[in-house]
Amino acid sequence: MKRMAAYVLTAGLLIGLVYQGRVASQVNTVRELAPGVYFHEGDLRGKGHCNNGWVIFDDYVLVLDANFPSGAREILPKIKAQTNKPIRFAFDTHHHGDHSYGNQIWADLGAVPVAHENVVAEMRKYETGFFGGRPGRWEEEAKQREDLRATRLKPPSLLYRDVMIFDDGRHRVELRYFGVGHTHGDGFAWLPRERILFTGDAAVNGPFNFMADGDSGAWIETLANAQKLGATIVAPGHGPAGDARVLEAQRQYFVALRAEVAKRKDLTPDRVQTDVPAMRDALLKQHATYIETGAQAIAGFEAQVAQVYKELTGREFPKRASMEDARRMHERHHGIASIQ
Ligand SMILES: [Zn+2]
Repeated sequence: MKRMAAYVLTAGLLIGLVYQGRVASQVNTVRELAPGVYFHEGDLRGKGHCNNGWVIFDDYVLVLDANFPSGAREILPKIKAQTNKPIRFAFDTHHHGDHSYGNQIWADLGAVPVAHENVVAEMRKYETGFFGGRPGRWEEEAKQREDLRATRLKPPSLLYRDVMIFDDGRHRVELRYFGVGHTHGDGFAWLPRERILFTGDAAVNGPFNFMADGDSGAWIETLANAQKLGATIVAPGHGPAGDARVLEAQRQYFVALRAEVAKRKDLTPDRVQTDVPAMRDALLKQHATYIETGAQAIAGFEAQVAQVYKELTGREFPKRASMEDARRMHERHHGIASIQ
């Protein structure tokens, strides 16, 4: 009971802190990061939308992340209000629905979905319904999301392995790949002239990251590689844009989370599960940005601990905190009703 009271108090303080951090964010508004380079923070809590970017080239527009269909429809008029150049490319930073399920919306306008080649490999793994197998994630998600029902999955068809470059002499965007992280197909969009980096969910700026499709050890390396670019503006997959500290804070969170779990890697899954609240308390001191404080607070963090424990030991938590539960929770997070 005493412990419970302590939680309520911590949560209250944290909501205050997180709210402070959020004052700077402006959901559903367009921000010009540099001439011709735009950032739009998606409505994550209400609609599950991801952040978007777009770059206006001489002859066309490159959209960064396809979003959900409803997210694509949200930003489309905002792009059209700025330019009548055709939208030719939509870059999926990874295969998750909130970054790629809007592909068909862009394709209907004549755009080609672009991604790292592993994004298609990931879709083959998880989008089994599309590829002729049992219903996959799209079908699961469509039960909850009306915006999926009038459209369909459209895997990217223009793929890169190391780098893809868009350069009209004025703007240059390099689509890059630094290894496994949030998924096996994390693509980054790097603008070397403006030193702006769009990260997809390889880096987010808030407490909503899903870990079970990637590998936290490799993720730390991937973020370190991305940091070598020397970005001065970082546009994350979710949450407000910031500076280089966004990459460092995300990386440090995973380093700290892994250290907490590693201390317990010789313990049984049940025992580690019992320690989840203590681990959360330990991380809240330095890494509050990345830890959920709402109703899903413990469950979300527990899923991250379960994932890291599995990576370190090969063992899984008892079923009630299985990866499937974590994924379903992620779906709620990334798209259904708002989390109150
Ligand atoms: Zn994602």
